[in-house]
Amino acid sequence: MADAAAGTGLLPAAGAATGAATGGAYGGGERPASGTNSAWFERATRTIPGGVDSPVRSFQSVGGMPFTVGHGEGPWVFDVEGRRYLDLVQSYGAVLLGHAHPVVVEAVCRAASLGSSFGMPTPGEVLLAEAICARVPGCEQVRFVSSGTEAAMSALRLARGVTGRSRVVKFDGCYHGHSDGLLAGGGSGVATLGLPGSAGVPPGAVADTLVVPYNVVPELDEQVACVIVEPVAANMNLVAPRPGFLEGLRRACDAAGALLVFDEVITGFRIGAATASVLTGVTPDLWCFGKVVGGGLPIGAFGGRRELMAALAPSGPVYQAGTLSGNPLATAAGLAVLGEATPADYDALASRVARFAGALEGAVRAGGLSAAVPVAGTLAGLYVGPPPGVALEPPLDFGGARAIAASGVYPPFFHALLRRGVMVAPGAYEVVFCGLAHGDAELDVAIEAAGEAAAEVARALG
Ligand SMILES: *Cc1c(COP(=O)(O)O)cnc(C)c1O
Repeated sequence: MADAAAGTGLLPAAGAATGAATGGAYGGGERPASGTNSAWFERATRTIPGGVDSPVRSFQSVGGMPFTVGHGEGPWVFDVEGRRYLDLVQSYGAVLLGHAHPVVVEAVCRAASLGSSFGMPTPGEVLLAEAICARVPGCEQVRFVSSGTEAAMSALRLARGVTGRSRVVKFDGCYHGHSDGLLAGGGSGVATLGLPGSAGVPPGAVADTLVVPYNVVPELDEQVACVIVEPVAANMNLVAPRPGFLEGLRRACDAAGALLVFDEVITGFRIGAATASVLTGVTPDLWCFGKVVGGGLPIGAFGGRRELMAALAPSGPVYQAGTLSGNPLATAAGLAVLGEATPADYDALASRVARFAGALEGAVRAGGLSAAVPVAGTLAGLYVGPPPGVALEPPLDFGGARAIAASGVYPPFFHALLRRGVMVAPGAYEVVFCGLAHGDAELDVAIEAAGEAAAEVARALG
């Protein structure tokens, strides 16, 4: 059998030098990695498009080349050359306890030793579903998937299935993953009736997606199946909901018979001990989760009231499935994180972030750049603009966020920070992620670096 396959040329001949092709030196959990950032990245670009498996990781919008991570430890990441960075990205929010937290490492190793995927129910998914439902009033059942993209995509299918309606309303600048129908207005500046936000998305796929500005309650008619929103927007930098916005969405949905979907893939179990729905007191019909609930492993989930969730197959007519859904390693990691982070830990983190944000904005402005560092729970935004070092007004929508980014100050500021060993996201539309491993001492490192970086950039801008 193997010989026959090899004979067709589809498989490498036995004994082919795969060790030489893969380098052999990096793997098996050994660290640190060897080699240089430029060699690894140049090599990555040969077999991986653009050298990255998610475009946000590329340095396209800030210029230059991403470093290649060898390992992480708490709030720090180390590149393959051994250089250390204070990590304010934390896998775009997926990591809450810091990198390689011993409790997570142990939980994942133990789960792996019992087998990594079965195609049968496992206790871990039951326990994690219970942990989520216990923390989120109104969310009585969840179904696990493998990414936030799938969570949002499936929640929409469910909303359309139970309402029998087609239309979906989303907000300009909110990101709900890369499924065809939700790519509209996710950063492309498309307004009103959705136009494809990516090549390869046919107009028909977004014909039922209506894109409207954030922080304005839209008028809904009886064709609308659901309104999907990031209750605290964290994919156009940080944009907090205006008082009354979420309450207004709740009322408008009820009046039109549409469902309200909170995409809490970032905010869930990161903005605080539970969700933005708990923080704001506005309860949606459906939630999307991801990132933190997988403890740094691939996961997503969507949930809501029992009678809505009953419309899913096998009990109902809305089909949804996944080979690796509820994966035992991911649920073990998620359970470890939710078990480790206490409400007091989240409160302490929110206090640290509030102090950090004030000091960070002060340092950047003292360095000579204009800045705003708004805060929502444990999340912080990071807006930088040209001199003088005045306070910027935190934006209320994507247009406002774009206007600040258009000054072009973020890219040189990003690089000036990186040269000082502080890693923020390589793009102006992300938020700053601190976690339980970021103490005041580490955050002080970032504040000092930000002041120096701002001064360097302000000088260069004259
Ligand atoms: C990250 C994110 C997603 C997509 O999750 P993936 O796991 O990257 O597919 C969806 N919605 C929001 C709000 C996100 O931040």
